[in-house]
Parts: sequence; C-alpha cells; structure tokens
Amino acid sequence: MKVYLDNSATTRVYPEAAELMTKVMLEDYGNPSSMHRLGVDAEKYIKTAREQIAATLKASEKEILFTSCGTESDNLAILGYAAAHKREGHHLITTKIEHPAILNTMEHLEKEGYEVTYLDVDHEGRISLTQLRDSIREDTLLVSIMHTNNEIGALQPIEEAGALIKKCNSKTVFHVDAVQGYGKNRIIPKKMGIDMLSASGHKIHGPKGIGFLYVKNGIRLQPILFGGGQQGGLRSGTEAVPSIAGLGLASAKINEGLEQERETLYSLRDGFVKDLLTIPDVIINGREGHETAPHIVSASFRDVRAEVLLHALEDKGIYVSSGSACASNHPQTSATLLAIGVEQALLDSTIRFSFSVFTTKEELDYTVQVLKELIPVLRKFKRG
Ligand code: PLP
Repeated sequence: MKVYLDNSATTRVYPEAAELMTKVMLEDYGNPSSMHRLGVDAEKYIKTAREQIAATLKASEKEILFTSCGTESDNLAILGYAAAHKREGHHLITTKIEHPAILNTMEHLEKEGYEVTYLDVDHEGRISLTQLRDSIREDTLLVSIMHTNNEIGALQPIEEAGALIKKCNSKTVFHVDAVQGYGKNRIIPKKMGIDMLSASGHKIHGPKGIGFLYVKNGIRLQPILFGGGQQGGLRSGTEAVPSIAGLGLASAKINEGLEQERETLYSLRDGFVKDLLTIPDVIINGREGHETAPHIVSASFRDVRAEVLLHALEDKGIYVSSGSACASNHPQTSATLLAIGVEQALLDSTIRFSFSVFTTKEELDYTVQVLKELIPVLRKFKRG
C-alpha cells in the first residue's frame, strides 16, 4: 500500500489540471505577448485563470498577479512594498513561526537597515493580538502573518489582526502568507482586512513552480524582476501559460467543494489523532478540533528519532515529513517547534502527517497499525 501523507510539502496534481496543461503545451503554446492568433489564444488561458482565482477570493481579476511560486509571492509582497514605500517608514512586523520565504526576506531587509519585530506565539502557535497592537507604530509599513502554519497547522486570528492593524495605523498594509491555508479555508481578503495574499499551485493539486499574489487595488509595489514589462510591469517574464492554466483550474476545483472537503478532512484528522494517542508517549503539537488546520498533524514520539521513523515508515510505503519539508533538506531545529516551547527531548522526535482530498480512512488506519508495530521496536534501541 502506498500512503502519501506529505501533502503540506506538495500535492498530487488533479488529473484535469494535468490534461489541461498538456493541451496548452502541445496545442496552444503561443506566447501571450505575440500579436497573432496563437498569442491571443494563450492570453485567454491567463484571463480565465485570473477570473477563476479572483472568484475564489471575491476579488477583481486585476488584483491577481502570477509568480513562479509561493516564495516569490512572499518576496514580492514584502520587498516590493518596502522598496516602494521606503520614505514612509522602516518598520515591519511578522511572527517567529513564518516560513523561511518570509523569515529570510525579513532578515535580508534587516541588513538593508529596516527594523523587524518578530511576534511571539503561545504553546499552540497563536500570536497575541495585544502584542500585535503594542508593536504597531507610526512608521510600521507592513505586517506579514501566515494564515496556516506549515509545520503544526496553527491558525492565526487573521480577520481580527486585519481589523486591528487598520485601527492602529490605517497606512500599515497587511500581507498574509496563505500558501497552506488557501483552498482549505474561505479567505475573502476585503472582508478580512488583507491587502496582499500569497498562494502556491503545488499545495492545491496544481503544478509546481507557479503561484499568485493578490494585491489589493491601489497598493503600490516596486517590481523585483525587471524585463519585458509583462503583467503591468510588476512581474516581467513570459507568463508560464500551462502552469497558470493548471493553477486556475486547481483553484476553482479545490474551492468548489471546500466546505464539504474540510469537514471530511477534520473527521479524518480527529480519528487519526485519537488513534495516535492510544500509542504510549505520543504528544500532539498545537490545537485540537476545528481550531487547527484540517490537514496537518504534528506528533512527537518520545524516544524515537524522527528521521529513523520517517525511513521505517517509508519502508512500509508511508510518506511523511520530519519538521518542514520545504526547509528540511538540510535538517536544522525547527523554529516553529522551538517557538511553541516543545521540550528539547522531543524536537528531534517530531513527525508531520499531512492530508489531502485524496487521503482515505483506510490509509490512516494502516498508518496507525504500522506505527503501533514500529514504535516499540524503535524505542527498544533508544531506551535499551
Ligand atoms: N509559505 C508557506 C507557509 C509554505 O508552506 C511554503 C512551502 O511549503 C511556502 C511559503 C513556499 O511556497 P513554494 O514552495 O511555492 O515556494
């Protein structure tokens, strides 16, 4: 049995999206900037994808910008806004548990002379709105808070934060990294006080190497890529038409059945967590029930090395991740687990299981059964 439980790292592409992309690559392969019919046909795919994505956010299609990935969307939002507004302030706010796409961008800006406040999180990974309120200053340009944490699934109070930011400083803009939250939650930027929002194709059964940035009408960014002036000069480079078409289709599809799918994922998650907790010395990190992401379970197995368990599961056909896969090619201690205060002995014993619309109860039952066999054996090595 093959059980893929690493959907926060990446997802399987919807067959319909793959078919559409193949058609664009083989038949409608024009450059959207070309003035002939093939170019015009290619441009139509971009327009359709913009409309599909805009509809999911109740936004205008003019507010959707295509990028090469979630990382680029995050970079463009932060670097592009900071550069365009450097005369108005040098202070930014984010959290301690952001993805490296945000944290490393902030670090870069610190070297350029900007000041960054990193908000703490509680032991369940939630920021404090009081600390956010107290951190906003006259010269705060931007606040960036992730919607859903990629390691433990913590959800942030986005709507409350959006309202608070505008109340404290109407000039401060609010960026949300929704790479893990988009497609699992209804996110309506205008209702939630979000000015910019990042998402990525490969987390929602679309292709890899494509993302989008929602930029509210009226927000001024400086480009980070210079070239042929595509996408209104904000993101030069020939548009990745096949991937954009695939992303548009995946966005529409995942959002269509969202409420029902969320409930299915929550019930799978609840059952899985309950079963995991029947294994001695297992700790679930983060909140429970609907107060956490529907698709992520972070579990620490005392006296088991995560990497050893990961490969033992792999031998049984089960694919999981230790810490965060996007950053874990070179394993280092997880900033998120440290920030929520996971005890030292468990930092290296934590596994992330992440689900998708393709995950079944049978797969999860099999995983628990395998874990029940493996854990006592692996502990014998460690405990002697
Ligand atoms: N932000 C979060 C929260 C993520 O989980 C990821 C990837 O895992 C990214 C950003 C980066 O997205 P991409 O892989 O499309 O660059």
